[in-house]
Formats: sequence, structure tokens, C-alpha cells
Amino acid sequence: MSLDLEHIWNQVVGKLGDLISQDDLITLRACFLDEENGKYIIQAPNIFAVQHIEKKLLNVLELALSKHGISSFSIQMHTPTLYANPSKKEKKSQSIIGQELIKEYQFSNFVEGGSNNNAYAAARRVSEGLFSEEFNPLLIYGGTGLGKSHLMHAAGNALKERGKSNILYLTAETFTNEFIKALREKSMQHFVDTLRNADALLIDDVQFLAGKNSSQTEFFHTFNSLFDKKRPIILTCDRYPKEIEGLEDRLKSRFGAGLTVSIAPPDYETRMAILQNKASYLNFDLAPEVAQFIAHNVASNVRDLEGALRKVYALCQFQNQPASMAIAQEALKDLISATSKQISLENIRNVVANYYKISIADMDSPRRKASITLPRQVAMHLARALTRHSTTEIGEVFGKRDHTTVLNACRKVDKLLQDDANFSEEYKGLTMMITG
Ligand code: ADP
Ligand code: MG
Repeated sequence: MSLDLEHIWNQVVGKLGDLISQDDLITLRACFLDEENGKYIIQAPNIFAVQHIEKKLLNVLELALSKHGISSFSIQMHTPTLYANPSKKEKKSQSIIGQELIKEYQFSNFVEGGSNNNAYAAARRVSEGLFSEEFNPLLIYGGTGLGKSHLMHAAGNALKERGKSNILYLTAETFTNEFIKALREKSMQHFVDTLRNADALLIDDVQFLAGKNSSQTEFFHTFNSLFDKKRPIILTCDRYPKEIEGLEDRLKSRFGAGLTVSIAPPDYETRMAILQNKASYLNFDLAPEVAQFIAHNVASNVRDLEGALRKVYALCQFQNQPASMAIAQEALKDLISATSKQISLENIRNVVANYYKISIADMDSPRRKASITLPRQVAMHLARALTRHSTTEIGEVFGKRDHTTVLNACRKVDKLLQDDANFSEEYKGLTMMITG
């Protein structure tokens, strides 16, 4: 790519950084801008990147490139030079095993709340570099888009800042691929040495190891070696690891040997705090009622919340208008009609009552028997997490209770979610039944 094109591309990607998600940004960073016979081409590294750009990023790219006088372009898969220098290629596959830490994921831009504060505190503690056996490994588990990878990268970045240069970050999928590649290319010694010499090992989404037996065996040895050397290990998983089918028992028991913490979907206040935080980072003047509107309507996870904010932001940018309720409604109309259909208080109450085999009348009654209080509290917690209703409104529906009762119920359930893995699984199951 010529210097000029390189410059334009860097500018475009830099500008879009605020408008698109981290994953989209990583895709674009792997591409470059090219020109052939006066036609502009975005060269993408693989077919997935081409499809991803065509599906999701065409509009924003058109807009951003038009600012540089490029009004039309195509997207192609970049074909590597056929006769690349083989020694150079070999060297590359020999030396790089870990993935880059995402430097945008820091503790300073992670918003703490009841749903994630244990995970946050634990990751911070590990990143302080004071090794503690009780925290090794640190395993963070929870549903998608809740901040597990963010915390893992933040811990890696912080450890790096403290002078630990050899922080190895890999998704379990990359671990498996690199392991297979090392077997194929007979570079197992290099693979083993790289992993076992890490100052800290960060493995994201360990559930991916399920069913991959030889990768698990290798991982087991890597784990033991680093554990014996007292090197911090951080793992994330999309569910409680004991529940992963196809994962060897000895790995499950290693994973659970240190500290296991969960992350739950953010409550309303945390969603508001996250929105305000992200808006100020974007320099986006987000009126409180617009923030409330988004926080009420997008309750599933932080990734969706961010996506919703970005949609509103992008629409404001394109229309050159400040954030208003009208723009927010327009930007989120598809999303809202999809979610509001299913999640009503009635729906939550029915699903929970059914699950715990109690009646709706019991749920609303003043009875304090544990077999009734718990379902009531769970339903209140779900109502707060998944709907736009205030604690006062929720209290009202549940037998005219006060809003502080709802808050206490939520605290109690938050605590159970942290302390009791079985309960946490039940809760997730209920969430899935409700959200469909
Ligand atoms: P997971 O790994 O749990 O699927 P990620 O760590 O990828 O989720 O988070 C999804 C997105 O949400 C990321 O852009 C991340 O920065 C953001 N995010 C998640 N939790 C928070 C939080 N508490 N504060 C700020 N941003 C968050
Ligand atoms: Mg992740």
C-alpha cells in the first residue's frame, strides 16, 4: 500500500474507532487500502473479514472514505505473495504464539457495580503482582458480553505496566490451533517453552477446550508447570466450569483450585453508569432521559448496551443532531420491538412461579416461608435485570411491597449468585427461559 493510502486507511480506522465495536475494529485493522487501475480496494485477510465488512461495516466505511474523496471501492480477500521469503515465514510462525492484549481494556474504564464487583476486585488484586496462591488460578465466569475479556485484558495490561513483560494472552481456541500447528510443524518444543516461560498466562473462554482431548492434556501440563512456578493464571469461561461436558475432571478440579468468581448481567444503575461512562469517553452529550431510555430497554449485557449507544451516537453523527428521544427511538426501534414483546413482569412472574412450583398468589402474599421467599426474590431480581420497571413499580406488582424490599431482594440474590454456583446456573436457566 502506498504511503498515502496507508495514511488514509489509518485515519479512517482511527475515526471509526469510536463508532464501531472492538471486534469490528480488530477486523479493520487487519485490512489495508489498495488501488488498482484507479479503483480502490479494501484488502481483507480472509473471507470471514470480507463477509463481516460487507454485512456490517459498509455504511460507515462509505461515509468515512468519502471524506477522503473515495466514493467507491470494493472489498477483496488479500492473496499473499506466492513466493514469500520462506525463512521469514518460518521465523514468524516460530516466534508468535500469544495474542496482543487489547490496550483499550483497562481497569480505569471498567464500570463497577453489584453484578461484577467481585470479579473486578479479584482481577485487580491479581494484577497487583503480589502472588497469592488462593487466587491462582483466578477464574471468571458468566454469560456473553458481561466484561470477562475486558477484565482479563485489563489485568494483563496492568501486569505489563508493572514490568512483567512476558504476559501470554490466548483464547482457548487459539491455544488449540497453535497446539495443532506445533504438532504439524514439529515445533512442539517452542510451543511448550513459550507457554511454560510466561510470567502470567491468560486463557479466555476455556469452555472451548471441551471435547478436545489432546489440547486438554497439553493444557493440563502447561497449567501445572506455571502453577508450580507460582505464576498467575487467569481463566474465563462462559459457564461454571464444573458444568462443562467434555472437560476432564482433573482440569475442572485445577480450574476450581483458586478463586472462582462470577459476573452477572448489570443492574439498571450499573447500566446507567456504563452508558454515562462510554458517552463521556465518546465526548457524546447524552441527555439523562436518553440514557434512561437505553438503560431501560437494553438489559441483556454490556456488549448490547454499548452497541445500542453506538447506534444512537452514529445516527446523531450522521444526521448532525444532538441526542434526543426521537433519535434514540429511531436508532433502537428494531431492538426494542424484538425484546419488549417477550419480557413483561407477568411473563417473569409466571416463569418463576412455574419453575419453583408455587402460585402467583403465594408470590404476592406476605408469607415468609423460604420456599416462597426465594422465588419471590428471584422474580424481583429478574424483573429489575430484564425490564424497564423501577423498583417502586416492581414492589407494587409483587403484593404492594415497598421499593426497599425489592432492593433487599436484589442484594440477597446478588450474593447468592456470587456464592452459590448451582443457584447461579438455575438463575441463568430462568433468564434464558424468559428471554427466549
Ligand atoms: P465477555 O468476554 O464477557 O463476553 P467483553 O469483556 O468482551 O465480554 O465485554 C463486552 C463489551 O462490553 C466490551 O466492549 C467491554 O469493554 C464492555 N464492558 C463489559 N463490562 C463493562 C463494564 N463493567 N464497564 C465498561 N465496559 C464494559
Ligand atoms: Mg470474552
